[in-house]
Amino acid sequence: MQLLEERIARDGRVLAGGVLKVDGFLNHQMDVALFCELGREFYRLFADCGVTKILTIEASGIGIACITAQFFHVPVVSAKKCRTKNISSEVYACKVASFTHGCVNDVVVSREFLCPEDRVLIIDDFLAEGNALMGLLDLVDRAGATAVGAGIVIEKTFQGGGERVRKTGLRVESLAKVASMSEAEGVRFC
Ligand code: 5GP
Repeated sequence: MQLLEERIARDGRVLAGGVLKVDGFLNHQMDVALFCELGREFYRLFADCGVTKILTIEASGIGIACITAQFFHVPVVSAKKCRTKNISSEVYACKVASFTHGCVNDVVVSREFLCPEDRVLIIDDFLAEGNALMGLLDLVDRAGATAVGAGIVIEKTFQGGGERVRKTGLRVESLAKVASMSEAEGVRFC
């Protein structure tokens, strides 16, 4: 998506460790007009999939998921990162290694909000090694629901998560695909 690539090239900053900082428009300060265009594009891609729910993971996926949900007219479920030792039987739970924080989180969704009839579109800001997406997919499976696909804003293809997740058969659509990036030369798109 050209609009997004231009914005990343203009305002994104490459940090050490393969992290792309897009705090100015995507996940700290949020450009809602841009989110609207991203949501419209996700709707164009997945409109005929019978989506009944959008699933994301806190925190940075929530804004994009909510704007996208306005096009689909469905609720957003945000999987929560949980720090308590006791996971209640009222939730579906999985473990997700965090790319940016280097820790492992228990991630939970209340059983109340995902059911076998649901057709779930997963939305997230980044796809790096694929841990977040695999975790969300696991939660959908545990609920007996159907994952119709994943909409990702920025996929860093060189970190392998896209290949890993697509191997499961899940349809993954990324609006910008970064082939490589460096502090010196910036971002190169696929
Ligand atoms: P994965 O689980 O695919 O390795 O990483 C995806 C998650 O890590 C996303 O939910 C996102 O919050 C975070 N993430 C991964 N790479 C980046 C990055 O380059 N920049 C930022 N801001 N977040 C990232």
